[in-house]
Amino acid sequence: MCKHPSPLQQSTVRLAWASSSSPDPIKPRANLNIRALSMSFASPASARIYMDANATTPLLPEVVLAMHPYWIEHFGNASSIHLHGQQARTAVDRARETLAEFFNCHDAEVVFNSGGTEGDNTALNGLLHPGDHLITTSIEHSAILEAAARLAQRGVETTFVAPQPSGLIDPTDILRAIRPQTRLISVMLANNETGVLQPVEEIGKIAADTGTFFHIDAVQGAGKVKIDVRKIGCHLLSISAHKMHGPKGVGAMFVRRGTPIESLLVGGSHERRRRAGTENVAGIVGLAKAAELAMHSLADGTIDKLAKLRDRLETEILGIPGTGLNGAGADGMPVARVANTTNIWFDHLEGEALVIALDLKGVAISGGSACHSGATEPSHVLMAMGLDKTRARASLRFSLLKTATEADVDHVLRVLPTAVEHLRAISPVAAGTLG
Ligand code: PLP
Repeated sequence: MCKHPSPLQQSTVRLAWASSSSPDPIKPRANLNIRALSMSFASPASARIYMDANATTPLLPEVVLAMHPYWIEHFGNASSIHLHGQQARTAVDRARETLAEFFNCHDAEVVFNSGGTEGDNTALNGLLHPGDHLITTSIEHSAILEAAARLAQRGVETTFVAPQPSGLIDPTDILRAIRPQTRLISVMLANNETGVLQPVEEIGKIAADTGTFFHIDAVQGAGKVKIDVRKIGCHLLSISAHKMHGPKGVGAMFVRRGTPIESLLVGGSHERRRRAGTENVAGIVGLAKAAELAMHSLADGTIDKLAKLRDRLETEILGIPGTGLNGAGADGMPVARVANTTNIWFDHLEGEALVIALDLKGVAISGGSACHSGATEPSHVLMAMGLDKTRARASLRFSLLKTATEADVDHVLRVLPTAVEHLRAISPVAAGTLG
């Protein structure tokens, strides 16, 4: 048996257990505090500049601290009637109250699940039957697009509404697509690649006027804009913790009272029979803490500051010749977007090459949706907005963490122009030799 942890194990233990000098991971809970955790976040690995928040975000120290007791001391099953179970149940109930505040709904309208993919799949599969018609958009996440493709095999027809060149969905296109058989409209709140915010309130009115159910994939909007399901008038809304500084593998769904949605997973009677499976108590507590912190960040100006930071980054990058913004209107001005995202095309280079070049300089960004990483196909979102394949491939997404700093932006602005220049000098795209 190996007595000493490997370097990888050591760094994992350091991160998870902060500044503990004890080799026993159960004991050092007293050392687990925000300062120590924050310091462990400043390790050399995390000194890199991470601008891929739309792919995922790190847990904030407060989130780790909130979750910790539910792995170790209060590990009970929330369905058990003894004290351990009650402790877990109380935590889940409290988290539900926080999420109800986050959505502006009643506690009973919050369903915990495993994240955005499950929420999206539940909305479509739980409401649609053979013969029904679905309206969604061609710029949705694959969790919606693939669910719609599977439902097509079961006799559910889908209309995919295309965006305008700015990335915005025109609500009148949604209205035009309504048929007598239309049962569900599903539109995202914010696009994961461009950050463009969709006019969900107007679409909510169309849903109400036509008696259609309305689901919102709010995975990329949650924590970046205030969510008010009553104001929007939606029936279903999905979020995911890991996009807002919470843990991976946990999410929540708003399900308006009386919405006849069938559970995707069956088994126990968890979540009022709307989602079977033992609750991920620590994950749910982490999601609630992340939601609480997100509400503070929206109220205390953190998100406004983030928008200014993003704007500075964007303006300076757009000063590089042969670049342009994905997500601008006919007047060239950006349309409404979440605060942390900008998507920019760079002519005469391959986007993936620039992603790699920046990675080597310690900057993490993305050339498309992280969920498609490895795929060489140009982004379906950018193509739907009318970009040609070359320009779509040469587009990069910068998505800032809410903890991003001026120094992060300075660093990116220091290394990016040189990387672009270098790649353009050697690029087969620039030379016109790429097929
Ligand atoms: N919806 C959108 C808009 C997303 O960006 C993502 C993830 O990238 C998902 C859904 C899937 O969420 P999860 O990773 O929680 O399954």
